[in-house]
Amino acid sequence: MMYRTHKAGGALAMAIAFEYFRAKDMLVPGMNEYVQLLIMYPASSWGATAPDLDHHWNSVKEKTPFNMLVHKILHLSQPKHRSWQTHSILVTGGFCALLYSLVTYGAVLFPGLAAIDWTILRLIFVGFLTGLVSHLVLDSMSTAGIHIWPGAKFRVVPRTSFFATGSKWETFVYYTCIVFTVIVVINVGLGYADLNIWTLLWDGVKRLLPIFA
Ligand SMILES: [Zn+2]
Repeated sequence: MMYRTHKAGGALAMAIAFEYFRAKDMLVPGMNEYVQLLIMYPASSWGATAPDLDHHWNSVKEKTPFNMLVHKILHLSQPKHRSWQTHSILVTGGFCALLYSLVTYGAVLFPGLAAIDWTILRLIFVGFLTGLVSHLVLDSMSTAGIHIWPGAKFRVVPRTSFFATGSKWETFVYYTCIVFTVIVVINVGLGYADLNIWTLLWDGVKRLLPIFA
């Protein structure tokens, strides 16, 4: 998938994750939930396109100094685009497991950091992971697919030109991500009036089509 689709997918993934964390009381207690979203969302947005830093530098959209650094480090292993380094469940997932261990148990290794530092680092990690997962999910919905482990390809769509990168299918996925992000954001607002968009929609369907009532 292309840059804009990954950005839209990252936004949708973050909106869903945020709603889920709120519903399950998984956000940090005593900290404004929208401040937490403000910390998580940029990390998610970056994570949503970070795997494509395995592309050559000319094809990287965000030519920031940080991306250049990550790009240089990644290219020490001379990856191809959609490489197993950044697009595989085993290797990319293993890297995330390492990061998870670091933000969970890192206080032992780095006692100089305060509890609030680890809280913020965990929020950044959760945002990054959300964006990264959205990237792999979206790429698995294109003919290029992702790797389960190096060499073992995985995709949820057939290998036909209809599902190729940049196709009408991708345009459809892009707009679907945007529409659902808007719905989830509206749902967050409705929550303050103790309303839920899915219940409202379902009630509407039942009224229009009594067969579902
Ligand atoms: Zn990719």
